[in-house]
Amino acid sequence: MNRRKAIQLITSFTGGLFMNQISEASNFLNGLPKMDYTFPILFMGHGNPMNAVEDNSFTRGWANAVKNLPTPKAIVCISAHWETKGTKVTAMEQPKMIYDMYGFPQHLYEVKYNAPGHPMLAQEIKNNVTSTNINLDHDWGFDHGTWSVLVKMFPEANIPCIQLSLDRTRDLNYHYQLAQELQKFRNKGVLFVASGNIVHNLRVIMRTGNKSTDWAQEFDQKIASLITDGNHTPIINYKKLGQAAELSVNSAEHYIPLIYALGLRKRNEEASFFNHNQYQDLMSMGMRCVRIG
Ligand code: ZN
Repeated sequence: MNRRKAIQLITSFTGGLFMNQISEASNFLNGLPKMDYTFPILFMGHGNPMNAVEDNSFTRGWANAVKNLPTPKAIVCISAHWETKGTKVTAMEQPKMIYDMYGFPQHLYEVKYNAPGHPMLAQEIKNNVTSTNINLDHDWGFDHGTWSVLVKMFPEANIPCIQLSLDRTRDLNYHYQLAQELQKFRNKGVLFVASGNIVHNLRVIMRTGNKSTDWAQEFDQKIASLITDGNHTPIINYKKLGQAAELSVNSAEHYIPLIYALGLRKRNEEASFFNHNQYQDLMSMGMRCVRIG
């Protein structure tokens, strides 16, 4: 990348301010002004993809969650729907749409989310994480874990957005530690959006029909109270939480984004909830969303 291009990218990130403080692209993070403001972390229970084209209590909750926030300079989304071997971050200028869901009405496949990417932020994330090697990705884009919530949160699609993948070869401690390394971006104008579901088990519902779902409520409330208490260890080691956990976390990809949200949490930061105690699709998906900070 030549110097002019680098400066253009920096300018787009900083809004043109503080350019004299930024001499080289390699100093991007350190050269960015530390803001007085630290963005909260949002864990979004995304549920059924059709939420993207509906106006319902969930989507109104998502829009409300960002209504009074300053405009982020960039968004990093950790979606349940990008599972990889090795951790990747999207690094293209213009991410493409990915319609990674099947059997839905045609108009869902016509949703567009045209936010730009942010190659330099992707590079900075790579540079600033030392616990693992993060690979820059040029093939992915926006999957429905990302666009189905962002289309309601930031419908203008004018904030640069990148995705961070879930390395499914690694345990939950890996994800938690990696997220801790990303905390430093929160007061640089970066909003982290983790998109999944605390309770997510379509399989058990299909098998049993709409019978007892006490397990869903038990697990959801247990996790909520651990979040409130700032007690992350049992959340990371959820398999020790018994049968309710086993039934609620079917394959963990929807749960892992929560682990990122918690790893990004700074000491003593408060958490609050919205869209909680609500479920979708025969209670197979808990719609609880978490705001931290
Ligand atoms: Zn999903």
